[in-house]
Parts: sequence; structure tokens; C-alpha cells
Amino acid sequence: MRANDRPAAEDGLMTWDDTFRFRCGPGIECFNSCCRDVTIFLNPLDVGRMSRALGLSSTVFLGRYTTRLAAESTGVPAVVLNMQGDGKTCPFVTEKGCKIYEARPYSCRLYPLDTENGIEYTFITDSETCLGLKDSREWTVETWRLDQGLVFYDDMDHQLKDVMKSEEVWEAPIRDPRMQDMIYMALYDPDRFREFVFESTFLQKFDIDEDILEKIREDDVALLYFAAEWLRFALFGKRAFLKFDKEFLERKKKEVLQKKRS
Ligand code: SF4
Ligand code: SF4
Repeated sequence: MRANDRPAAEDGLMTWDDTFRFRCGPGIECFNSCCRDVTIFLNPLDVGRMSRALGLSSTVFLGRYTTRLAAESTGVPAVVLNMQGDGKTCPFVTEKGCKIYEARPYSCRLYPLDTENGIEYTFITDSETCLGLKDSREWTVETWRLDQGLVFYDDMDHQLKDVMKSEEVWEAPIRDPRMQDMIYMALYDPDRFREFVFESTFLQKFDIDEDILEKIREDDVALLYFAAEWLRFALFGKRAFLKFDKEFLERKKKEVLQKKRS
């Protein structure tokens, strides 16, 4: 039986081979209705893509279009897209559809499905609200994931798992605002994080390979991989390619010794 034929309560979870029927596009009666009055949490990859599509820096994009939150249970920062006006409309919806369609966020790609772990999926809506679920075009969850570019997010989600799901790593939520800001910057604000790496004392402290520096200077995705490594190092002391600069360490040792003597 196809997933759409079953009521949501009995639906259970779909995995990658399960099928469902769906089509969306201009001409459908409910077109654009799901782009209003909705809570859209942005994935770290979304901010870089959306801000570039709009020709904005990530810092300006975040300030103009989003609200920063912190997860109650973990204290880890999260970012929500602001809706506009009385109709609580997404700022990017137009009569013709999404004006940043190629850079639309993860949640918009996933709709009408939802998932917590990327393996088990469920419907987030029903065919009375989302008329596209009455169409005959058939997908498996996996063909949908491929069509919507969701697989692009898989590896990064895996990389960021221990940072973003820190309740599995830490017993207490993060409450230190400086630490929250560090995580927010590294995950969601590539332009500010890039400035931090290249224009603070960061590169005096760490010995980073030239080829890595070259990549992260321009590439937001490479920078986010780098941010994941840096956060793992800064938060949990795990090192992959981050090495302290030897001269910096020697200088620090001398400073500590001098302090002890004085
Ligand atoms: S509610 Fe469903 S069919 Fe209607 S516009 Fe949204 S995704 Fe498309
Ligand atoms: S980003 Fe695009 S697809 Fe997502 S809610 Fe806004 S207009 Fe709709």
C-alpha cells in the first residue's frame, strides 16, 4: 500500500524505499500556502546559500531575516527564518513561487516530509492541506531526497552531530553567552567566522595547512567543515587538523613561567 493511502496515525515511519505520491507547482490550488505562518529552522548550510543567493553577507542576512534562539535543553544556538506582516509570510515567496528556489532551506526541500534522523521519514502535513499529496506522481523517499538535493546535507549533518546534539555529549546545557556566540558564529555566520580566522590572532595560534586556508578563504562549505573541526576542538578538545603553532606555544610557556616567577 502506498504511504498516502494510509491515515497519518497508522502511517508510522517511512524509510528510503517507501513510496508516496506528490506533486507541487504553480496551478495547484494551494500553491504558496505552505510558505506562510510556518516555523522554519535554518540548517547551517542554508545561511551561506541563502545569503549568497540574495547577494548579502551572512551577517546582514542573519540580522535582516532571522531570529536567533537557543535550544532550551542544550543551550545550542538555532536560527529561525522571520515571517513578515499580518499574513506571516515568508519574505522570499512571490506569485511565481520561491524567489530563492535554488537556495531554499533544508526544511522547504524536505516538505511535505519530515525526519529527525535522516533515515526515518513521516508526513508533516496531510492531503487536505497540501493538495499535492493527491497527485499521482510517485516517489520513493530516496528519489525525493535526490530530487530535492537533500543528500547534500547528509555529510555535514553527520559532521555537526556532536556539536548540535550536544545533549548526547554534555550533561549540562550551554549557558555561557560567549560560548553560545562562538558556536553561533562558527555554524551560522560564515562571513564573521572567516573574518575571525583570517583577521584575528587565530592563525598565530594555530598552524593550519596552506591548502586548507586556500579552500576556506572562498568556500562556505569548506569553511563549515573547518568550523565543525574547530568547534570539536574548542568544545571537546578533539583535534583533527588543528595544531597549535609551535612558536605560539613556546611564547605562552615563557609567559606562564615568567608569571610564576614574579
Ligand atoms: S501545500 Fe503542498 S502542494 Fe500546496 S504549495 Fe505547499 S507543498 Fe505545494
Ligand atoms: S524559503 Fe522559499 S520555499 Fe521556503 S518558505 Fe520561503 S518562499 Fe517558501
